[in-house]
Amino acid sequence: MLETVVVLFNRDLRTVDHPALSEAVKDAHFVVPLFVIDEKIIRTTMERPNALSFLLDALNDLRSSLISKGADLIVRQGDPVKELIKLTTNINASGVYVTSDSTPYAKNREQELAKECYKENLEFKLFPGATVVDTNAIYTSSTGTPYKIFTPYWKKWISYPRRSLASEVKSFSLPEKIQSGSIPSLGELTKLSVSPNIDKGGESIAHQQLDRYLQNIQDDNNLAYSSSRMSPYLHFGCISPLTMISESIDTSVHENITRQLCWRDFYQQLVANIPEFITDDLRTRPYKWNDHKNLFIAWSEGMTGFPIIDAGMRQLKLEGWIHNRIRLVVASFLTKHLRMDWRLGAKHFSHWLVDVDVSSNVGNWQWIAGTGTDTRPNRILNPILQSKKIDPSGNYIKKYVKELSVISSKNIHEPWKLSERDLRGLQYPHRVIDHEVESQNFRTLIRNK
Ligand SMILES: Cc1cc2nc3c(=O)[nH]c(=O)nc-3n(C[C@H](O)[C@H](O)[C@H](O)COP(=O)(O)OP(=O)(O)OC[C@H]3O[C@@H](n4cnc5c(N)ncnc54)[C@H](O)[C@@H]3O)c2cc1C
Repeated sequence: MLETVVVLFNRDLRTVDHPALSEAVKDAHFVVPLFVIDEKIIRTTMERPNALSFLLDALNDLRSSLISKGADLIVRQGDPVKELIKLTTNINASGVYVTSDSTPYAKNREQELAKECYKENLEFKLFPGATVVDTNAIYTSSTGTPYKIFTPYWKKWISYPRRSLASEVKSFSLPEKIQSGSIPSLGELTKLSVSPNIDKGGESIAHQQLDRYLQNIQDDNNLAYSSSRMSPYLHFGCISPLTMISESIDTSVHENITRQLCWRDFYQQLVANIPEFITDDLRTRPYKWNDHKNLFIAWSEGMTGFPIIDAGMRQLKLEGWIHNRIRLVVASFLTKHLRMDWRLGAKHFSHWLVDVDVSSNVGNWQWIAGTGTDTRPNRILNPILQSKKIDPSGNYIKKYVKELSVISSKNIHEPWKLSERDLRGLQYPHRVIDHEVESQNFRTLIRNK
């Protein structure tokens, strides 16, 4: 039995199904749950006020949960490796347990930690839990390289053996005389304002949200109910993806949730194995990106004159979240109709999304831009057809584009077809492009490559 183990928390802000914490409690007399507010990460997340706000909620919730188990969350600020070693020296710890993560930044931190722990004679262990299947578990049989196409990855992933859920942590003790440290307020970390209607972070809310979703499954196409809205909780590890699969097991959405979580793993393994994927096109593109500042502003402000696009972009700013189907339509519009660089769109999403996750964000942007893993890279989503399909009643559009609240569901998808007089009364922008013309231009560019 070890005397004291430090569990370094990162994007695993939970106590349920936390393999590193469960093992530490089994292995040691005292366990110290540590979170280091990493100044390098904060500098980036300062520009992501919604995600930062969610993170602080999640930390406060984790602290309450650990206090209820007889312990606390120990908080420090600075460089995680240095702060961790300072703490292990002060309390004379014998081990460091960490949940493994897939981003290049996290991998680098893990290597540094392993090196420093070795020097300090500390037992260093990495644990699973961030993904369903480890990012280094599945490779193509023929070449041993990472999968770049989803379907063959899915076929292997679905039959890959899964770990059991980690045992429940009921209670444990901290060593004596350890200062807990305070969780900063949002105002101490960023001057930017948070969207008015973002979801609140934390493990307890994650479980409530999942229960609510599973108890109210609706088979209709209503955007408000047709997905779990669990993405920010999964991103910050307030719930494990394996818990989501196991909780949904007897429901009609089990298969769909499992498949969506496979998409999540798919992009995580791509970034873990091909870190350049974050910045570079995975496949070449036969045309140059446009540089239309005004069109980008119209897109990002939800002022394109295409109601479904504008509703999505306005929801993003209000709630820090949009449904996957709307994300696809707005991203296709930016990269295929306006032919603007997916990196601009991904950066804008990063600022506002409460669930912003580098692997899922870049993976999906590259997919829709045709530079990534889509097997049909030249597909272009028709924003009018998509609007009619996704939001036949127009209620979603009306919720976010108030100027159109008086328009009938028949006319709401193509307001430019209204008479000049009716249009003038609406105070809604005229469409910035013609869908037919720009999709034809896109096809011509592709054909002439
Ligand atoms: C342009 C674009 C950018 C995106 N950026 C992000 C991002 O930064 N962070 C993020 O978590 N997701 C991102 N997604 C994926 C997807 O839109 C969200 O995960 C999903 O909308 C979250 O809603 P939900 O939790 O209700 O999903 P559900 O349908 O309930 O799915 C359950 C979980 O599966 C995962 N998931 C579902 N779809 C995908 C997908 N296509 N790719 C990866 N994981 C998926 C999510 O973790 C999600 O919470 C992006 C998609 C697009 C098209």
